[in-house]
Amino acid sequence: MTAFRYSFLQVLRQGLEGHRGWAPAWRSPPLQKRYDVVVIGGGGHGLATAYYLAKVHGVRSVAVLERGWIGGGNSGRNTTIVRSNYFFPASARIYDLALRLYEQLSAELNYNVMLSQRGLLTLAHSDHAFELAARSVNAMLINGIDVELLDRAQIQAEVPLLNFAPDARFPIHGGYIQRRGGIARHDAVVWGYARAADALGVDIVQGCEVTGFRIDNGRLVGLDTGQGPVAAGAVGMVVAGHSGALAAKAGFRLPILSYALQAMVSEPIKPVLDTVVMSPTTGAYVSQSDKGELVIGAGLDLYPSYAQRGNLPSTQSILAGLAELFPSFRRLKLLRQWAGTVDVAWDYSPIIGPSPVEGLYLNCGWGTGGFKAIPAGGYVLAHLLATGRHHEFSAPFDLRRFETGALIDEAAGAGIAH
Ligand SMILES: Cc1cc2nc3c(=O)[nH]c(=O)nc-3n(C[C@H](O)[C@H](O)[C@H](O)COP(=O)(O)OP(=O)(O)OC[C@H]3O[C@@H](n4cnc5c(N)ncnc54)[C@H](O)[C@@H]3O)c2cc1C
Repeated sequence: MTAFRYSFLQVLRQGLEGHRGWAPAWRSPPLQKRYDVVVIGGGGHGLATAYYLAKVHGVRSVAVLERGWIGGGNSGRNTTIVRSNYFFPASARIYDLALRLYEQLSAELNYNVMLSQRGLLTLAHSDHAFELAARSVNAMLINGIDVELLDRAQIQAEVPLLNFAPDARFPIHGGYIQRRGGIARHDAVVWGYARAADALGVDIVQGCEVTGFRIDNGRLVGLDTGQGPVAAGAVGMVVAGHSGALAAKAGFRLPILSYALQAMVSEPIKPVLDTVVMSPTTGAYVSQSDKGELVIGAGLDLYPSYAQRGNLPSTQSILAGLAELFPSFRRLKLLRQWAGTVDVAWDYSPIIGPSPVEGLYLNCGWGTGGFKAIPAGGYVLAHLLATGRHHEFSAPFDLRRFETGALIDEAAGAGIAH
């Protein structure tokens, strides 16, 4: 097990010794025949689940099974925005738990997740949009979230690069900002949780695809994998865009559709943008990475798909919107473009809780915005797996809300994704 503490003195010592003494950040153990808990999916949510199982609940016989490499799914493909400015109380509670956990995460994991609370600004491009922004801000303040409504002049002071010309295609009428929002380094979040979970005895098994479910009398007793069968006391299914396909193998349907969601980066430039800017009207949002690249995110492709590419019309419409918002970005070259397969639930909120198969628990449906939720998603799923009961923060997100009608329609409520 890894018991190597990262510190300034270690960096100094290893530097003097030619960096030959670093231990691997996590082991590559063979798959055992049985675990108390198996987590399917080595993204941020799966790894955080394993970490909190071991750390908070003392459950050490845990495996995370990842069909590719950890963080190779959406957790390593997103635009890294963190925020908790949600409209409905249940959403605000769980996303703010995540943000509070993020604020402690580097120290907790002994791994720098590079959280940068540089503020997240959401723009309103018409009087009507500004009124809706005021409504959202009022709801968020009631939810206890730190947001501020800003007028046009205040936004100009915050982000002077935006297009304030009188004939701008998307005039800026105002907006709102969450100053605790910002970005974190996505790979570091995955690797930090992996390293910390491994140090507590969790087996992270990569290249191990779950291909089937062994169900006895309605109860899940084990899984079939590419590396052989494995028995499990309880199983967490945390596979994002593949949730629908895997649920079908377990014999039930989920109210989820999988879409490609794309992002892109520009060539690196000197620091010009010190906050995250979102424009729901154009669908574009942008931040500047520490490397200097502009990280640009788009909306969903318009049809369900498992292609991790993203289509050209979406790329074009996002870049057109961005060029209108920031005229000075027009001359920049695009460096890379990619997409991930996101799992969108019918009400755009996550699904957390028991599945129709006893012993199988779900954490999915985070869609376009689950990176910011990783610490909380892992925390509440660990609670479920260890106790068999909902954490109070996950209860509203149970699958049964699609039977009772108690939906949490955040897309309609807050009007923004990611
Ligand atoms: C382009 C893009 C931009 C985004 N931007 C943001 C953002 O700015 N902020 C934000 O909060 N969220 C954002 N998101 C959403 C966010 O990335 C996801 O909601 C989050 O990463 C989901 O984490 P996860 O651990 O559930 O899934 P993943 O990281 O996708 O992990 C699931 C894992 O399960 C594995 N798997 C699948 N099937 C199997 C199987 N049968 N057996 C074993 N393993 C399997 C996959 O290989 C994968 O590694 C964005 C997503 C994309 C694609």
